[in-house]
Amino acid sequence: MVRKPIIAGNWKMNMNPVQTVEFVNAVKDNLPCGCKVESVIAAPAVDLAALIEAAKGSNLKVAAENCYFEDEGAFTGETSPKVLKEMGVDYVVIGHSERRDYFHETDEDINKKAHAIFKNGMTPILCCGESLETREAGKEKEWVEAQIVAGLKDLSAQQVSQLVIAYEPIWAIGTGKTATADQAQEICAVVRQTVAKLYDQTVADAVRIQYGGSVKPENVKELMAKEDIDGGLVGGASLIPESYLQLVNYQD
Ligand code: PGA
Repeated sequence: MVRKPIIAGNWKMNMNPVQTVEFVNAVKDNLPCGCKVESVIAAPAVDLAALIEAAKGSNLKVAAENCYFEDEGAFTGETSPKVLKEMGVDYVVIGHSERRDYFHETDEDINKKAHAIFKNGMTPILCCGESLETREAGKEKEWVEAQIVAGLKDLSAQQVSQLVIAYEPIWAIGTGKTATADQAQEICAVVRQTVAKLYDQTVADAVRIQYGGSVKPENVKELMAKEDIDGGLVGGASLIPESYLQLVNYQD
């Protein structure tokens, strides 16, 4: 099964619209063919309009970093998945550990968001991953499996075949401490086995799994060589055009 690699920058709460346009102009002519690798940037909601406009006609795909699970209504401060689609957003990151930890998002919220994103014709990038405490207790596999089971609840096999799942051990995010390629592969394999148990092997072979946590130009090749790692979700190293280009062009 050939899965198309997907490298996504996650800008978090960095960059403004002017910096966004400068970034896109600096990378857009040197992105790999979309037939080889998907290049994605997940940007803050306030930058999406600028990002979409600047990325038009290029190989860059656009992700939101979050959305709500209702299309519209009295939800002050939330972002509508319906409007994200209308704007031209392709992917929405959900369940990032920063959202789970700082904004108390639950597996149930994340599952509702996954349904809303698919309903609106976009693709979720569903994040999972354990804390250092969970890993030290030797419970990382059960933890990630439970997050996947809850996150995928009532999604169809066809939807899950399109899905992107990002395994991001919390202890490796923004710390410079990358999981070794073997550690990352081990849990990405657990993610795929969990999908196979819930659906079947065909769905599990189709789902794309990213590793995230201190991915950088120096380690991307080794991570991407692993059997169950189909991409990266990259924070810090995605903010600088040169380093983003090195990441998406890791095959060169
Ligand atoms: P990092 O962040 O690459 O800066 O570790 C990854 C993420 O949180 O998605």
